[in-house]
Amino acid sequence: MSGKRGNGEGSIYPYKNGYAAYVWVTKPDGKRARKFAYGKTREEVHEKWLALHAEAKKGPVATRHRTLAAFLAYYWLDSIVKPNLAPLSYVSYEGYVRLYIAPHLGVKRLDKLTVRDVREWLTKLSAVCQCCAQGKDAKRESNRRKCCAVGECCESYPSRRVIQGSRDALRAALTHAVAEEEITKNVASLVKVPKPRRRRIKPWSVAEAGRFLADAAARDDHLFAAWVLVLCLGLRRGEVLGLMWKSVDFETGELYVDHQIQRAGRQILHRESKTEDSDDFLPLPTLCLKALRMRRAQQSGDRKAAGELWQESHDLIFTTKYGTPIEPGNMTRMFALRARRAGLRVIPLRNTRHTCSSLLVALKVHPKVAQRILRDSQIAMTMEVYAEASEEEVRAAIGKLSDAMGGTG
Ligand SMILES: [Zn+2]
Ligand SMILES: [Zn+2]
Repeated sequence: MSGKRGNGEGSIYPYKNGYAAYVWVTKPDGKRARKFAYGKTREEVHEKWLALHAEAKKGPVATRHRTLAAFLAYYWLDSIVKPNLAPLSYVSYEGYVRLYIAPHLGVKRLDKLTVRDVREWLTKLSAVCQCCAQGKDAKRESNRRKCCAVGECCESYPSRRVIQGSRDALRAALTHAVAEEEITKNVASLVKVPKPRRRRIKPWSVAEAGRFLADAAARDDHLFAAWVLVLCLGLRRGEVLGLMWKSVDFETGELYVDHQIQRAGRQILHRESKTEDSDDFLPLPTLCLKALRMRRAQQSGDRKAAGELWQESHDLIFTTKYGTPIEPGNMTRMFALRARRAGLRVIPLRNTRHTCSSLLVALKVHPKVAQRILRDSQIAMTMEVYAEASEEEVRAAIGKLSDAMGGTG
């Protein structure tokens, strides 16, 4: 530090066991007030004082410490999450803040939040009926209320997944507050939450997958090609629904997966997915190519039938009868419906990915090609896969599928 004192530096003075300083600032309401900085050494306070000065020059400064609710809702969500993260992350964080964090911890001061507060919040949260808390039943018309609003609580406690998600959202926000030096440690990261228990679901066998596809083909299901791509390539729901015709190269038999359909709140978004590492083309097994050709014919049929009602949307491969994107949730529902109709066990759609490698073997897709397909989806190709796929029952199922497709698949 130079011997000369800067203008106004005289406001640094000994305070308790260290030093304090203040700067005159303009508050958000336009009034002038002193804002204080404290520290152990003169040096430290000087640094803070300089930073405060710079902040005051830029615009209004809040002198009071913020409540957690103010920090989360007005600052973190709007200024950090919304402009920087994917829309889906915003929707998810916003939900956690509004429904699970703010109602319980919102009034606490950001800088006074303790590990204990967080632990007590999580314990309490797991025992709060969300139907009561969010007034779900109360929102129903008076003659249709059936539980919490009529004194018979339905005990809709948040799942472990929700508890975990709430903690993670708070932790993400506090990480930001630490980075901006509003607080010194992230109390949410110091609290452990039990990991959500994973249900183990036996994936479909190749025979089951084959039966599903054969049934869908026989019914001229407009999502047939989607099921084929999910089962053979291990594509995710949003990836399949986001595919565009220009993503398919019928000449080389390749597919480029670079878009997704997502539901974010009330909107359905068609957005580009992350491109790092995904700039590879997926080779399309014959069955996929056939299914896509069928889909193309089917869509032009739909377009003709819809006439003026047809809505062109992003060159999408999978559309409703009127050309609009397919809601991801509907795809899941349709999958369950069709599985049930084909007399199969209903498994979660994403669980079908585990059948993918066996199916590729059964389809006699070249191992090199299969490996290229599986690489991105991180599905291991094991000897068991070959064993299962060579069973007679399996060969029969796939044979039946090829028949339904009118050729060799
Ligand atoms: Zn209820
Ligand atoms: Zn209740």
